[in-house]
Amino acid sequence: MVKVDVKYTKLFINNEWVDAVSKKTFPTINPQDESVIAHVAEGDKADIDIAVAAAKKAFHRYSEWRKLDASQRGRLLLKLADLIERDLEYLGQLETLDNGKPVKQATGEAAWTAQIIRYYAGKADKILGNTIPADGEVLSMTLKEPVGVCGQILPWNYPIPMFVWKIAPALAAGCTIVLKPAEQTPLTALALAALVKEAGFPPGVVNVVPGYGPTAGAALTNHPDVDKIAFTGSTEVGRIIMSGASAVNLKRVTLELGGKSPLVIFNDADVEKAAEIAHGAVFANAGQSCVAATRTYVQSGIYDAFVAKAAEIAKKRTVGNSYTDVEQGPQIDEEMFSKVLNYIKSGKEQGARCVTGGERIGNVGYFIQPTVFADVKDDMKIAREEIFGPVQSILKFDTFDEAVDRANDTNYGLGAGVITNDITTALSFAKHVRAGSIWVNTYSVVATQTPFGGFKESGIGRELGEDGILQYLETKTLTISLPKQPAI
Ligand code: NAP
Ligand code: MG
Repeated sequence: MVKVDVKYTKLFINNEWVDAVSKKTFPTINPQDESVIAHVAEGDKADIDIAVAAAKKAFHRYSEWRKLDASQRGRLLLKLADLIERDLEYLGQLETLDNGKPVKQATGEAAWTAQIIRYYAGKADKILGNTIPADGEVLSMTLKEPVGVCGQILPWNYPIPMFVWKIAPALAAGCTIVLKPAEQTPLTALALAALVKEAGFPPGVVNVVPGYGPTAGAALTNHPDVDKIAFTGSTEVGRIIMSGASAVNLKRVTLELGGKSPLVIFNDADVEKAAEIAHGAVFANAGQSCVAATRTYVQSGIYDAFVAKAAEIAKKRTVGNSYTDVEQGPQIDEEMFSKVLNYIKSGKEQGARCVTGGERIGNVGYFIQPTVFADVKDDMKIAREEIFGPVQSILKFDTFDEAVDRANDTNYGLGAGVITNDITTALSFAKHVRAGSIWVNTYSVVATQTPFGGFKESGIGRELGEDGILQYLETKTLTISLPKQPAI
C-alpha cells in the first residue's frame, strides 16, 4: 500500500486547528484493508456553536471579508485553484486512502475542481441585478446579496468535488461557511481547508467541522444563526434537514439527494456502444453515484444481445488495489458493503437472473464483483430502491410510451438517459421524462457550466453553472422615489 502522509486531523475553525471541545475523536477507515488510517477530532454541538459564531463574525457588515471587493474574492478563489493544482497528486492519494476510489480517478476529480473554482472566481464580480421599469414615479432595481452563514453537509462518494461544488459558489457570492464532511471521508476536506487558509481567506470565512450527522450535522441544521443549509446525501436525511431547517428559522435549503435513474435503449441503437454507455452509467465510482442509471430499460428487439454484451463488459471490469490502474475499488464502508450484498441477495430471491457477479471479492476490504441482473421486474426491490453499489438491473420494454411511463414511475428524478438514432424519439423522451438531467446517447456528463440537481424527491435547487451561485444569493429590491413630474 502507498504511504500517504495524513497532515490534518483536527477541526478547522477561524483558520486555526483545534481539538473538539469534548476532546473526542473518531477513526477513519481505509476501505481497501479495513485498517484505521487516523483518529479525527469529532465535532458536535459545542464545536458547531463555536464555528457558527466564527462564520457569523466573518459575515459582519464591517468584517474584512464583507469589505473585500468582489474582484478580490475572485482573486482568492483563483489562488485556491492554483494550490489545488499544486497539490493534485497528494490530494488524489489521500482521497484514495480514505475513500478507496482508484487513484487516477481521485486525481482527475481533484483536477476538475480547480476548473470549477475558476468558473466561480470569474463570477464573483459579475453578480448583477436588474433595473426594472416599475409602475409609478420610481426607479427600481434589484441587488443580489450573499445569503449569509451557510451550513454545508457533504456525502462521502465524491468528497473533493462535493467540497468544491459547495464552497466555490458560496464564496464567490460572499457567504461564510461551516462545513461538515462525511464521517467516512474527513481527510481531504481538512487538506482542502489548509489550502483555503494558505490562499488567504480571512479567519471564519470557511470552517470545517468533521463529526457525525445526528450530532454535528443536526446542530448545524438546527442552529438559529445559520441562514442556509446545502446538503448532498440520502433522501431520508434530506427530509430531516428540511424539517429541522423549517422548524428553527426557515433556513434556505438546497438538497441534492438520491436517484433511481433510468437509461432507455431503443432497438435502433448500436448494441455494443449502448452496452458500454450503460456500463459506465452504472458502475462508475463502484456504483456509488447519485445519478447512476441503475434501471437499464432495453427494447425487446435487442434485449438478448444487450444482456450478453452487458455481462461480457462487466466480467472484464478490473477491481482491486486502488493504487494500481484498476477501474473499481472497494465500497465505502462495512455498512454500505453489507447493504449492497443484501440487495444482490434480494434480487436473486425475487427471481431476477444474475448473469454475472453477485459475490464479494476476497475476504479483506469491501470489494464487490460487478453484478448484472437480467429479467428484472419493476416491482423488485433492486428496481425500486437506490442500491449505491456495482449492480445493474436490466429490464425489457416494447413501446415508447411504456418506456416513458415506467421511467417516470419512481419518486426520484435526478437523471435519465436515452440511446437512439431517432431524433424524434430522443426529443420526445427528453420532453416527457421528469428528471433534472437528460442525456442523449451518453450518460453522466456533468459540466462545470451546466446546472445539476433533481426533480421530485431527488432534491431542491441546482448546483454548478449560473444556477449554482443563485442559490447563495438573496434578491433585494430597491425602489427610489422620483419627483412628481409636472404636467406640460
Ligand atoms: P447520509 O446519511 O444521507 O449522509 C450524508 C451526510 O449527511 C453525511 O455527512 C451525514 O453524516 C449527514 N447526516 C446524517 N444524518 C444527519 C442528520 N440527522 N442531520 C444532519 N446531517 C446528517 O448518507 P449515507 O448514510 O452516507 O448513505 C446512505 C445512502 O444515501 C446511500 O445508500 C445512498 O443511497 C445515499 N447517498 C446519496 C448520495 C448522493 O450523492 N446523493 C451520496 C451519499 C449517499 P455522517 O457522516 O454521520 O453519515
Ligand atoms: Mg450516514
